[in-house]
Amino acid sequence: MGTSCRLVVVPPPGVGREQDARVTHQALTEAEAALRRVEAQMSTWIDATPLSRFNRAPPGERFPLPAPVVHVLRRSRELHAATDGAFDVTCRPLIELWRAAGKSGQLPPPTAIAKARAASSWNVLDLADDGVTKHAPGARVDLGGIAKGYAIDQAVAAMRRAGAHGGLVDVGGDVRVFGQQPSQSPWEIQLRDPSGTGVIGTFPIREGAVCTSGDYFRFAEIAGQRYSHIIDPRSGRPARGVRSATVVAPDALTADAWATALSVLGEAGLDRVPPDLEAVLILGRKGHLRAVATAGFRHLIRDDLPYPTTFR
Ligand code: AMP
Ligand code: MG
Repeated sequence: MGTSCRLVVVPPPGVGREQDARVTHQALTEAEAALRRVEAQMSTWIDATPLSRFNRAPPGERFPLPAPVVHVLRRSRELHAATDGAFDVTCRPLIELWRAAGKSGQLPPPTAIAKARAASSWNVLDLADDGVTKHAPGARVDLGGIAKGYAIDQAVAAMRRAGAHGGLVDVGGDVRVFGQQPSQSPWEIQLRDPSGTGVIGTFPIREGAVCTSGDYFRFAEIAGQRYSHIIDPRSGRPARGVRSATVVAPDALTADAWATALSVLGEAGLDRVPPDLEAVLILGRKGHLRAVATAGFRHLIRDDLPYPTTFR
């Protein structure tokens, strides 16, 4: 997935050193295997994954896909509806267009944007339990905004199965924690400053996931301007305005997808966030940053953010 990860396992208390080492080793090994399995199924950076092969396949016939890929596609379609179309894994044609623009340094012509936008649609995909049928030759999907979250959830499940008492899975800064730390205190999450390298806030969390999307870490530069790697499916152009979107959710798949969606929707998107999620957006330009968060986030964060902050 082009990123690094960190795994922490807390063994059950009072089992003795030998058992301790055994559980920890097994939990780490199986969590890593779970992460690699998801990558091998869903990455579009690897040509041989089932998803990459589906993207190259001709239209008209059901293309068999592993159950986990179909599951993530189903959840993606649900999240497409829940986010008013902002989270859209069918926008791979637009993603490829803007990646090529980033490489060449030239903005794509409006006709090319219109064409890629027309090709990016759920209407030309049929999901079945064992595969997907595309009804247009250009249809292809990109799970880059959600597969990492799914992988984190799978790694946590593997740790639990192996007998871990608690643990943390961090893939490129997207995190899920469960159970106890040895100290009994909750896990602590740090929010990174989107305009620098520092930390702008911390909050404790006992159980759940925290994922962040932003344009400050991964972006393209075209004609001297920075463009986000997140596409606004409504305009067919890179999303603008949100420096970082951080979402706290019970599971990482949901947090990952909503963080991407809120990077597109901006402030207005906070009204659509389901009640069991919390979110904070950092908006504006360096030197003029401000934060907007869900009302519940106020009780989560330890100290005030260093920016003017509103809650809604
Ligand atoms: P994330 O870092 O989780 O926000 O994911 C960003 C990645 O998701 C991009 O690099 C694309 O692969 C993909 N992506 C871009 N725009 C969208 C979108 N509007 N909906 C879903 N996935 C997207
Ligand atoms: Mg995401």
